[in-house]
Amino acid sequence: MIWVLDSTLREGEQTPGVYFDKHIKLAIASLLDEIGVNIIEAGHPMVTPEIHAAVKSIAQKGFKSIVGAHSRSLKNDVDLALECGVGFIGIFYCVSDERLANVFKKDLDDAIKQITDVIKYAKNIKPDLLIRYTPEDTVRSQFENVVKAAAAAVEAGADIISVADTTGYMVPGTDRSMYDYISKLKDELAQRKLFPKIAVHCHNDRGFALANALDAYRAGVDVIDAAALGLGERAGIVDLAQLLVTLTVDYNENRWNLKKITELYDLVSKHSGIPIPANYPITGRNAFTHCAGVHTHAASINPMHYESLHPDILGRARSFALDHMSGIASLRYALNLIDENSLDDDHQQSVLAEVKSVGQRGRTVDLEELKHIVDAVKHHKTYAK
Ligand SMILES: [Zn+2]
Repeated sequence: MIWVLDSTLREGEQTPGVYFDKHIKLAIASLLDEIGVNIIEAGHPMVTPEIHAAVKSIAQKGFKSIVGAHSRSLKNDVDLALECGVGFIGIFYCVSDERLANVFKKDLDDAIKQITDVIKYAKNIKPDLLIRYTPEDTVRSQFENVVKAAAAAVEAGADIISVADTTGYMVPGTDRSMYDYISKLKDELAQRKLFPKIAVHCHNDRGFALANALDAYRAGVDVIDAAALGLGERAGIVDLAQLLVTLTVDYNENRWNLKKITELYDLVSKHSGIPIPANYPITGRNAFTHCAGVHTHAASINPMHYESLHPDILGRARSFALDHMSGIASLRYALNLIDENSLDDDHQQSVLAEVKSVGQRGRTVDLEELKHIVDAVKHHKTYAK
């Protein structure tokens, strides 16, 4: 059974210019709990006292979701996370030869000792704590280093090994395939009789975060990271709504309350200052709006002619908009939707001309505006008599 970890409050807050106040963090966490994500990554308590306080209040809410904190491979960070009362910590440390030599001035064995010491320390204080270890930039680090560090981490008590595509480097179907990477890592660990949960953290620099996450799913990964609106560093990570809908509809992993997604996205968008693009899959304003003439006509007969997802799984409604592409059939269908069944042909042609003129100015006419156009045309015709 796949787990979803939401990182809107941790990775999402690494989006340039994004900060959620404590009460907004709590509101976001409550919606994530209602949606049913397995782990809420609430923040890195070491970063500021405000984040520490927010992580603590979220952890004390008594959610069904496990509340987690980020932590460097340092006992101080672990202490602060445990003080918050979290049930999960994510420890990270790089294992690439180049970074270890140039940034940390350490060799791999020293790094592994630091990682395993911290894991043992945390596990010793709280034996039921879920510990994830992430070799930073996993997929671009030497594979043998990743295996060595991951194996040592699991032996020290880590429950989850996370494969991080920190720079969105992986491309499905190439020699940088996430499917191949996860399969190979699982094999290597299995040969050492180690069977941790495997997580995947995919960045979206090339636009493949979701594709790579699904590739990882196919390889048997146990946890997928995501964030509302796909927020995160640079181009962000996997979009939570797209992931949950795809897992539900296409992979039969049906256990999330998708009807809360719109509320979550509105809240996150408002307080991150990042608008949801109109054409964004699942949550965008246009995601279930039919506009082009032939589409509207076909969709009015059977919506599935031009949809592969039902808007009602999200509690959203299908809508129709008219513009310069609309024909008389689309207009009549739209008139029917607003209970305007008695308009004669002459009036209908006048309404259509108005609609096309609005469309040519780069706007669409929704059903609300259509009512106003109909009223204006009726008024004008009456007055002209
Ligand atoms: Zn990240």
